[in-house]
Amino acid sequence: MPSKLSSAHATFASLAAEYSSDALLVTDHEDRVLWLNAGFERMTGFTLDDLVGRRPDEVLKGPDTNADEFAKIKEALRLRRPVDIEVIYYRKDGKEFWMESRIVPIFDADGKHTHYMSSSRDISARKELERITENALEREQERQKERKQLSETSEWLYSARSIEELLQVVEQSLKTMIPEAGGQLFLYSNSRNILDLAAQWGETSDTKQLEATDCWALRRGRAYSFGAQDIEFKCDHVEHDHGNAPYFCLPITAHGQTIGLLHLNFWDQPNLKGADASSEYHAFFKRRWDIALLCAEQISLAVANVRLRQELEDQSVRDPLTNLWNRRWLLEAAHKELSRYRSEGVPLSIVSIDVDHFKKFNDHHGHDAGDLVLRAIGSKMREMFTGSLSPCRIGGEEFIVLAANTTLEAAQELTEDFRRAMAHLTVRYAGAALPAITVSAGVTTMTDGQQQVIDLLKIADRALYQAKQMGRNKVCTHDDLDPESLPNPLAQKRTTTRASMSQFSKPLRN
Ligand code: GH3
Ligand code: MG
Ligand code: MG
Repeated sequence: MPSKLSSAHATFASLAAEYSSDALLVTDHEDRVLWLNAGFERMTGFTLDDLVGRRPDEVLKGPDTNADEFAKIKEALRLRRPVDIEVIYYRKDGKEFWMESRIVPIFDADGKHTHYMSSSRDISARKELERITENALEREQERQKERKQLSETSEWLYSARSIEELLQVVEQSLKTMIPEAGGQLFLYSNSRNILDLAAQWGETSDTKQLEATDCWALRRGRAYSFGAQDIEFKCDHVEHDHGNAPYFCLPITAHGQTIGLLHLNFWDQPNLKGADASSEYHAFFKRRWDIALLCAEQISLAVANVRLRQELEDQSVRDPLTNLWNRRWLLEAAHKELSRYRSEGVPLSIVSIDVDHFKKFNDHHGHDAGDLVLRAIGSKMREMFTGSLSPCRIGGEEFIVLAANTTLEAAQELTEDFRRAMAHLTVRYAGAALPAITVSAGVTTMTDGQQQVIDLLKIADRALYQAKQMGRNKVCTHDDLDPESLPNPLAQKRTTTRASMSQFSKPLRN
């Protein structure tokens, strides 16, 4: 302690020490407590009697005392240097507080170290404010990141040109934005009764299909979160092995119609009603829920967008009456298939079909009845020519089936089946069943040589003409045509396939 004070100064010093709001402490050269002021008592709850002769840091430290700051004090004391610290200490009643302190070594007139003097104040309120600000900042940064991810996602979703592309974006985005969840996206099948699994990521159940009644979100027509409400029921499509793990079900809607379901499960997370459900944990889920809702909304808009785009694209390649592919689509697709034939040797056949005496039919029953029949023929074609077979309407009552990856024999057999099925095609008009129509067809297949799509179509047409010549309601192949009139490779091929001709494909000349 400085010793050369006048008595008045000594009085001032002791008054200042007494009334200072700061906590003052004096220790000896070994840092053992000699004196403390009322401010110190207020701050720590310890009196001079409690601390005298003891090292203050040993009394005040506790489980959360910041080790680095504590080491800094030790080091400064050892080197007898002043030090400024911010440290977590504990009051006499055990309550934790933040203390800001300046500790200075005191030397006598001979330069000998005699004491330490520290002046400190409680900075808990400031620290709490800093913590809140820091948390808020962190949260804001997180939100900014989420907003950025969301806007990136919606940009990707909007540039998706097909449902397949869109599903990839959904999977990637949700994996990034809600990494804690496994997910599944279901879309309604064409039949509209069942939802098929369209995409999945992370750990999920094996559910591949579900019905609307299996899901509370679909039944109630709004997003459903399981795991936090007092009264709640588990959806049937959710795996029961995973106890009461929380999950979200979010309907995907377009133009007011439900078109799918986004399901997110949090298998690795405890139930929100459980012991771990702190308010922070609830806040964590609330954020995920908000993001999931925004994602479901974006996905809904994007699916509607892709479907609209596909519809528009479809309109340009579909025949409006039958909804079969049109000539434009046929020519494009046939060129693609022709290159596959050339590069990979995948067989390619073409069937040309024409309704028999359709002019007469129209004359008898009217154009509207004729339209109904054409529509029914289209439906039957879609039903019977499936997989790699694509039925097209290329004009009035003329149809082509592009039979990719199909041999002449297989195409001929399927066409025969179709021709026979026409006898059972019942179309009702003005309260009565219209008489059955018949069709004639010509079938050809691609052979080695320099044939172009247009040649293939011409040969199929000639085989069709042949069927008409032979009395209609028949299927002919290029084998039934005059070999002289065929391109060379076909003429050669004919000798090898003739044995397989059907009863309707007898050659005109032999
Ligand atoms: P064939 O057995 O020789 O094929 O006789 P056809 O009468 O079917 O032959 P044609 O090609 O001379 O006549 C086709 C008829 O198909 C003409 C028209 O009355 C009818 N047609 C063409 N397009 C449509 C359509 O979009 N709707 C309806 N209802 N009839 C159509
Ligand atoms: Mg015709
Ligand atoms: Mg006709």
